[in-house]
Parts: sequence; structure tokens; C-alpha cells
Amino acid sequence: REAQKCIANQAARKNLNAFINLAKKPALLRQAEDAKISSGRGALTGKLIAVKDNICTSDLPTTAASGILKSFTSPYDATVVQKVREVGGIVAGKTNLDEFGMGSHSTHSFFGAVKHVTDDGITALSAGGSSGGSAVAVATEQCWAALGTDTGGSVRLPAAYTGVVGFKPSYGLLSRWGVIAYANSLDTVGILARDTQSARKLFTALNAHDPQDPTSLRPSTRARLSSVLVRTPRKHPLRIGIPIEYNITELHPTVHATWIATLRLLAQHGHTLKPVYLPTTQHALSAYYILAPAEASSNLAKYDGVRYGSRVPGPDGSPSTNSVLFAATRGAGFGPEVKRRILLGTYTLSAEAIDNYFIQAQKVRRLVQADFDNTFRLPNVLLDPILDKATPTESDNDGGENRVDVLVCPTAPTLPPTLASLQLQSPVDAYMNDVFTVPASLAGLPAVSVPVWMKDQASGGAGSVGTVGIQVIAQFGDDELVLDVARMIE
Ligand code: GLN
Repeated sequence: REAQKCIANQAARKNLNAFINLAKKPALLRQAEDAKISSGRGALTGKLIAVKDNICTSDLPTTAASGILKSFTSPYDATVVQKVREVGGIVAGKTNLDEFGMGSHSTHSFFGAVKHVTDDGITALSAGGSSGGSAVAVATEQCWAALGTDTGGSVRLPAAYTGVVGFKPSYGLLSRWGVIAYANSLDTVGILARDTQSARKLFTALNAHDPQDPTSLRPSTRARLSSVLVRTPRKHPLRIGIPIEYNITELHPTVHATWIATLRLLAQHGHTLKPVYLPTTQHALSAYYILAPAEASSNLAKYDGVRYGSRVPGPDGSPSTNSVLFAATRGAGFGPEVKRRILLGTYTLSAEAIDNYFIQAQKVRRLVQADFDNTFRLPNVLLDPILDKATPTESDNDGGENRVDVLVCPTAPTLPPTLASLQLQSPVDAYMNDVFTVPASLAGLPAVSVPVWMKDQASGGAGSVGTVGIQVIAQFGDDELVLDVARMIE
């Protein structure tokens, strides 16, 4: 019955443009019916899962919302899609996004912008990006949960803007095999769901080593992680860190008030609040917008109309005419934001600029990671000295006294802007939305955005949106704790 309701909602909410391609209704119903008969087969039996359209499926096209892939269908399923199907989940369709995951409002799509309509049914707001289609599909009950990807906030920002849970697990836990690369060292498959328990269920079904993904966390590292987690039990009360640098002047008063109210709630539950300092935070956004486009410029080189992508008609065959063909194909196939990123990335990797930009940004990335490692009580299992020791000693984590278990902060500085107001924004204004999400991405940490009911609605903004996204971040591998704390505040 739940599946039928979702299918009815898909038909009624086509105007939101959440899906690029929907699975055929009879096929969905048949699968839902089959699932009923074999009930109990798997953890997600009969559940409709929407899949972001940069994750490959063999039964539906995978476009990455790009003109260059508009008629591409993958010959295989991504590992995460295979896993969804293995435990009885049904792929509901492929959701709309910013082209190749590049954007913060799901407006840079070959198939048109995703719409997130307020309760009054009139004002179209930003759905956040780039997994805006997945977020809207979950928020409007067109599916039970959805897969997205998060490179610098693309699961958490749309979750915050649309009032759902958005979870980015630690880098390397979920397989990237069959996920179209934007910036591989940051790309993470993430989950959008209506509550943290559903997000956890889907996460558990997907969390496994995949030998086909060279960046998938190995079984040996997973085992080491489990033993470190066992040796560092986090008991009640938890130590909750408040990152002082996140209290920026641009913070919307309602977001600020909701953050304070959330911290108060945690304190009322007996947890300890501690201010923490992450000094490199202020450089994280600039570093991200050097590193992500640099990786993108390299990843997107294969869309030349020969190896991949739709080709414009014209001469080919000789090296001289091929370059004309490549340029024409790429000029026609890519949208303006993708072209901007390719140019940016190509420049920062060029001989004249690499030292000042790319190399500096890599150094900032290390400092961001070090800031987090100095903050959390749990040691980072990816660091060699810890790996070599049988048991972490008190001195490894500063006696634990000044360290925290999780950080709690807003997901985004503001409430969702209206789609109309975005016309007046510069690309850099859009990049600003990611200021609180990119640090955890640069460090590969688990982070979840939880919808918390707005406090202080009087202070304006888009008044009819009911929730503000609050983010919980923890040390690498502490994914369960992030979900536990998220559950306390949802
Ligand atoms: N908004 C960020 C960007 O455009 C993040 C996107 C993402 O996480 N895929 O790069």
C-alpha cells in the first residue's frame, strides 16, 4: 500500500521535476506485489528507493542531468543499486540534480530546475543541491528513501532545505562503483530519508567493502575501526562540541536560534556542551572550490563524443578534425556551470598556477583534517601511529578532557532562498551555501543533516518552511554515533 501511495504521489507531483526518469508504473506495481508475496525476504522488501541520476542503473538511463549523457544507459547497476535490489528494495526512478553534481540549488540541470514548493503551494524555493530531486522525492513522499551523492554537501544541503534527513557516511564505507565521478577524493554516496531510523536501515544495507572500488574501505581497516570503537566507548553524557568559527555574521537569525535551541535540548538531556576551535575552517570553502573543480576537469575529459557522450554531427577521423569535434561536442553538451568548473580546474592545475592554487589547497585540506583530529576523542583510524598501537593510550587523545564526541552546528547559514532570487546571485553566492558542509567532506567525516523545528519564526525568511537543518559531525568511522545524536534532536 505504501508503494501505491508513492506511485500516486509521483503522478500528482510531476510539476516538481524531482525525477528525470521514472520506473514504469506496471513494473513498479509488479515488483511491489512480488515483494509482498516474498515478504520478509530482505531489510527493504517492497520499499521504493529513488536513485540520483548520477548513479548507474541498467534498467533506466543515467544522464547526470547533462546534455552530453542525455541518451546514455549503463550496461550495469552501481554496487549500491545492486545492494538495494538484493535486500528487496525497488528502484522508483532516477532523480534530478545539478549537472554532474555541480551546484547547490538543483537548477543547473539539462532537464530543468527541481522545484520545492512551500505549503502555500505558490512560492518555489531552492531544493538545495545537488541531490535536490532525491530530497524533494523523499519530502513529498514519492518514495520511501533515496540515494544521493555528497561531494561537498550535496546530500546535506538539500535535506536541510526540504526538511528531511540527509546522511553522508564516512568516505569509503559505501561503494562508488557505478557512480559517475565528479571529484573522486570527495565523492560519497549518501542517503535521504524521512527519519534517522530509515536512513540507518538503508545505510546498513549498503555498508560493505566492494573490491571493485579501489577507495572502498578494506575489511582489515573496517575490523580495526570496530576494535577502536569498542575500546573507546562513548557513554552518557556525551561531549558535544560547538564549533565557534561556525557562528558567522551571515548566519540567519532563525538558523542561529534553532541551533541554540538544539544545544539547549542536548544539555537538558544531560550532555556536556564544549566550545571547540577549528581555525582552518575559514579556508575550507576556498580549498574545496579549488580541489573539486580540479578533479572534475580531469574526470570530465572523457566526455568527448568518442569515448563517452553524445556527439555533434561533423567531421572526424584525423587528429586535426578530432579536436574540432571534441570542442563542438563539449561546447554543446555541457552546461555553463560545468564549463566554468572545467575552466577553473584546468587553470589551477596548469604549470603556472598549480603551486599557488592546487598545492596550497591540498595543504589546507590536511590542516582541516588535523583540526578535526585535534577535536575528537575518538582517534582517527586512518592515521598510521594509531594503527600501529594495540590500544590507544590516554595521551593519544589528550586525556580526553578537552575533546568531544560530536560537533553540532547548522547545515547551511540561511533558510532556502526562492528560486526567483537565485537569478540575481553570482556563482560565488551559490558556493557560499556550502560553507558548513565542505569541512567534513574535505576530511571524509560522517555528517548528517537533521530537520529541527524552527525556533523564532518571527524573524522572517521563508516563514512557511517548518524546519532548519542541523548538522551532526563525528570522527572518521563514527557513523553510528552521528545517527544516534541525530535521533536525539529530530
Ligand atoms: N555545491 C557543491 C558543489 O557544487 C557540492 C556539490 C556536491 O556535493 N556534489 O561542488
